Amino acid sequence: MRYVSTRGQAPSLSFEEAMLTGLARDGGLYVPETVPMFDRGQIAAMAGLPYGEVAFRVMRPFIGEAFTDDEFRELIAKAYAGFAHPARAPLKQLGPNHHLMELFHGPTLAFKDFAMQLIGQLFQASLERSGERITIVGATSGDTGSAAIEAFRGLANVDVVILYPHERISEVQRRQMTTPSESNVHTLAVTGDFDDCQAALKDMFNDFAFRDEVRLAGVNSINWGRVLAQVVYYFTAATSLGAPHREVDFAVPTGNFGDIYAGDIARRMGLSIGRLVIATNRNDILHRTLQSGEHRKSGVTPTISPSMDIQVSSNFERALWDAYGRDGAAVAQLMDELKRDGGFAVSQGAIGRLRDGFASGRASEDETRETIRRIHAETGELLCPHSAVGVHVAEGNMGENPMVTLATAHPAKFPDAVEAATTIRPPLPTRMAGLYDRPERVTRVDNDLAALQSVIREKIAR
Ligand SMILES: *Cc1c(COP(=O)(O)O)cnc(C)c1O
Repeated sequence: MRYVSTRGQAPSLSFEEAMLTGLARDGGLYVPETVPMFDRGQIAAMAGLPYGEVAFRVMRPFIGEAFTDDEFRELIAKAYAGFAHPARAPLKQLGPNHHLMELFHGPTLAFKDFAMQLIGQLFQASLERSGERITIVGATSGDTGSAAIEAFRGLANVDVVILYPHERISEVQRRQMTTPSESNVHTLAVTGDFDDCQAALKDMFNDFAFRDEVRLAGVNSINWGRVLAQVVYYFTAATSLGAPHREVDFAVPTGNFGDIYAGDIARRMGLSIGRLVIATNRNDILHRTLQSGEHRKSGVTPTISPSMDIQVSSNFERALWDAYGRDGAAVAQLMDELKRDGGFAVSQGAIGRLRDGFASGRASEDETRETIRRIHAETGELLCPHSAVGVHVAEGNMGENPMVTLATAHPAKFPDAVEAATTIRPPLPTRMAGLYDRPERVTRVDNDLAALQSVIREKIAR
């Protein structure tokens, strides 16, 4: 299995190389050259299997020769051993034909753990083999950073540097990143919003001298290894609800388009997914794109679902690449326009293909709060604000298929918003007790490439 860039100008890579690299050198994202297909019998056989076994079957065709079957099974087992629920991604019924998939039982209480815990294991195995040392730099809207730190803290061959937008994340999110005491963990609070952090990160990757000097590796949601890990739970959920014998729809709280793109890959692999519903908060560039055919940035507005306060939706480039018939030159041109003019018009053919595969909706702040309140009153389930955005949009898009809304974070990660909506303050799980007592360690940095690079050089020269 080879991986090619969405902009068509970077060399093709193996799974291991694509995973360790992150962003392609032409600025594009790595995508598999072909998507392996399962037949109905293979999918039917996954129903009821343990999560780790489904993970092995779904991901195995993508990883090529990187790991033997035994190695890969063991890495998967280690990745999910720290999850607090034996099903890993359990389903709960919310109403007639509507299910919630709880993706928040990992160590940092958000779905990011599914991917990050796995690539932590894969990176470690790969670096132990080669003896290489790398610097992982990531930008976070709140949850990626803590998941990455949790997965890489204390590893000998890795420094992990996380950029987050100063004062734009919840206190739990911040403390999860600033309290680990390992010397290979470096947390930077950057002046600006998440899009600024993500842009700075892209600039670092495009500065090839710096990239090679610090052996930069990326674990942001554009990393193919992360997308792949997220494909698995679409299979466990859909087969539990009757796939391949019936179709299942999914509503996905969306920011960077990573989680929902994983659903698209599952569908391309033959899983009977009907519609994938994009659920956004007020920062609704993806919803507007599907409605109008224009992909245009507007300012980022802070919301109570901060992990989705994004206007530059990186993984959407992968969906565009598919919608444009895998034309790297066309995608490169669109991305130039986005950078230069702040937006572009999607071609007729491409927008038609996107609308065939995806529906979309948005939730206002009031709708989000009201959904948290009502679902708690009706079912006893406490939703985090991101999951509530998903549930609100799902309810507007119910058809004949069972609907699964992805619950992307634990309510205790956003206690203020949940308490305001329900008067109940969700307690942190006991395994996280002490988070509020440990000392914090963080470096303030201006949103300036040279300043960031010099701080990173200083931090990793430990
Ligand atoms: C990251 C995140 C999202 C958005 O996921 P994408 O893959 O970026 O679309 C939604 N909810 C929570 C809680 C998150 O951490």
